[in-house]
Amino acid sequence: MTKILDGKQVAAMLREELYQEIAALKEQGTEPQLAVLLVGEDPASLAYAMFLEKVSKNAGVLFILHRLSNQASELDIKLKIEDLNSDAKVHGILLMMPLPPHVNKQRVMEVVSPLKDVDGLHPFNRGHLISGGVCLQPATPMSCLEIMKRSGISLSGKHMVIVGRGETVGKPLVFMALAENATVSVCHSRTADLAFFTKQADIVIAAVGKPGLITAEMVKPGAVVVDAGISELNGQITGDVDFERVKEVAGAITPVPGGVGSLTTVLMLKNLVKGIRLQQQVQEEEESFPCP
Ligand code: NAP
Repeated sequence: MTKILDGKQVAAMLREELYQEIAALKEQGTEPQLAVLLVGEDPASLAYAMFLEKVSKNAGVLFILHRLSNQASELDIKLKIEDLNSDAKVHGILLMMPLPPHVNKQRVMEVVSPLKDVDGLHPFNRGHLISGGVCLQPATPMSCLEIMKRSGISLSGKHMVIVGRGETVGKPLVFMALAENATVSVCHSRTADLAFFTKQADIVIAAVGKPGLITAEMVKPGAVVVDAGISELNGQITGDVDFERVKEVAGAITPVPGGVGSLTTVLMLKNLVKGIRLQQQVQEEEESFPCP
């Protein structure tokens, strides 16, 4: 029988761990603080920030929303980030996207201190992700892996076919899956015969944003299918996978909603905790070996 990989159940497990980690930090006298920087008035970003505030409060994280107007220059934004970087009480910085069109996203993102980069997007973190170093990893590819691992699905030796090579999900996932000893193939919009690849996969990850892209005929019987895609179709949130039909063929499958997306916020807050530990390590090293 097909196993439905329940993101909400896995998220509850992760939340329990997170609450314990935060309680331990508070016992040591550290109050985790997440700074969220919103530039402009994008309603979806504002709604997400409000949601994040609620989740953070429930977890015992101090959430502070910093807002700049849509007219803020790139320099204004960089200076605000510098302020947050140098504030020792701020442990994590989340830069809400999209930024206004006159702002270069990459240049601004690179100003965020890598150890406060809860989104795991800074080139420092991306570099360590590739080389296998300690770093903050992006939440959505982490969700794809956690939902399988916490459901008892091992990646080692499996052929994982990732559909989508986007910077947020597909590309970082390649390196994260390699670190788990999966054999990885990556497909994208120029892949000549997508089904040829997906049919060979023990694990299919869909990270595209096209409803119905992955059909039952494209999936090997018994394969694991993880759907990271998010689109709105007829007013409903939907993934990339034709869930109803693919679930008749797959061995395990994530729903949308209620799958990968359920884990991302808690994993981002776990990044905040990891960042605090890394910041503490750096501080200890600096105290042990002060610069002459
Ligand atoms: P992205 O940067 O837009 O990348 C989409 C990828 O899909 C590209 O690599 C593109 O190929 C590929 N693609 C497009 N059409 C295709 C086709 N017909 N066949 C095969 N590949 C195709 O997207 P992203 O930011 O990585 O996000 C991927 C999906 O995850 C989106 O639906 C996004 O909404 C969702 N997402 C979910 C969460 C969550 O919490 N669950 C979080 C973040 C993102 P090319 O490179 O050739 O253009």
